[in-house]
Amino acid sequence: MNHQIVPLKAGLYFVATPIGTARDITLRALDILASADILAAEDTRSLRRLMEIHGIPLNGRKIVAYHDHSGEGVRKKLLSQLNDGHSVAYASEAGTPLIADPGYHLAKSVAEAGHLVTSAPGPSAIVTALTLAGLPTDAFFFAGFLPNAKTARRNGLDAVKTVPGTLVFYESPKRLGDMLADAADVLGADREAVVSRELTKKFEEVRRGTLSSLAEYYAAHSVKGEIVVLIDRASGDENSEEDIETALKKALENMTVRDAADTVSKAFGVNKRKVYALALDLKGK
Ligand code: SAM
Repeated sequence: MNHQIVPLKAGLYFVATPIGTARDITLRALDILASADILAAEDTRSLRRLMEIHGIPLNGRKIVAYHDHSGEGVRKKLLSQLNDGHSVAYASEAGTPLIADPGYHLAKSVAEAGHLVTSAPGPSAIVTALTLAGLPTDAFFFAGFLPNAKTARRNGLDAVKTVPGTLVFYESPKRLGDMLADAADVLGADREAVVSRELTKKFEEVRRGTLSSLAEYYAAHSVKGEIVVLIDRASGDENSEEDIETALKKALENMTVRDAADTVSKAFGVNKRKVYALALDLKGK
């Protein structure tokens, strides 16, 4: 038996669950699932199945379905159970709760009511994909799912064009080809990118290339499964002088020349001395 019954303080325990391979669960997650007074889940069947796999009995506990949009009702009930001193474990269908998954409104109201909110951390597709990609991880931006409609998707891509870090998107296999084609167009055909699919599962696949080569590949090959797309940040020379100047002017409205140059050179990944000289020039004008 891998789990133990442990005494749990009253509070909300967010429990991360595997994103594929069932054994990617932590021992502490198993303990919390075995010991919590109340079990709640985005998908009650997935949690029951996971507990069965790991031999954790329900012991008369029901699993309550909770979605942020299931509304006040269930949330209020869970809050009153916390008020009565109970421990509540909450799990997503897969991965870490709140990461492109429900839990935000629950965490907010439980914290506002002054109860303990804690977590048993574990798998998430974001971190797993970043680990395998071979793209810089010093800074990254998780952009979630892009909108389905073409114009909205292109606007979404445009909004993150100059983010100074690796971009991470969740994407459906049906839209992958279109998304990569739009990304090549909006962000630049030569940006390095990675498509990771079915992480931790039997058909795990990681494909690397430029946005245009990946767009071409996935236009010709339709795929199934779960997907994370990662895109490298813009290299300095892709930024136009005009974009840098606009950002500098804005920064100079409420920053010193030195701070504005520092912020803008970091944001665009360009030489600080050059930006400092431009900032001095702009300030002089
Ligand atoms: N909470 C989850 C997490 O922590 O990663 C994410 C839930 S979100 C509703 C589901 C999306 O996450 C999928 O459509 C896919 O983009 C990504 N994802 C989840 N599991 C994955 C896997 N095994 N391989 C690749 N992507 C995955």
